[in-house]
Amino acid sequence: MTISICCPHCDSRAIARTSKALTSTMREIRYACVDPECGHTYVATLEIVRTLSPSAKPNPSVILPIVKVTQRQSATHA
Ligand SMILES: [Zn+2]
Repeated sequence: MTISICCPHCDSRAIARTSKALTSTMREIRYACVDPECGHTYVATLEIVRTLSPSAKPNPSVILPIVKVTQRQSATHA
């Protein structure tokens, strides 16, 4: 699965050109709109915000809130 965010100006698809890690839980991604008449390039961030199931190999420097998934939530994500 590729995570993308549409161009905020023309709502066209955008392609991720580069990304770099800012922290162990956040990346900065540079996008380019595919519409040549628009030509917008922009930066977005992708951040890990919470844990649904804990890691069996935890990194002590990674601190994320643990959120239990209710049956209703897990059914919508199945
Ligand atoms: Zn655009």
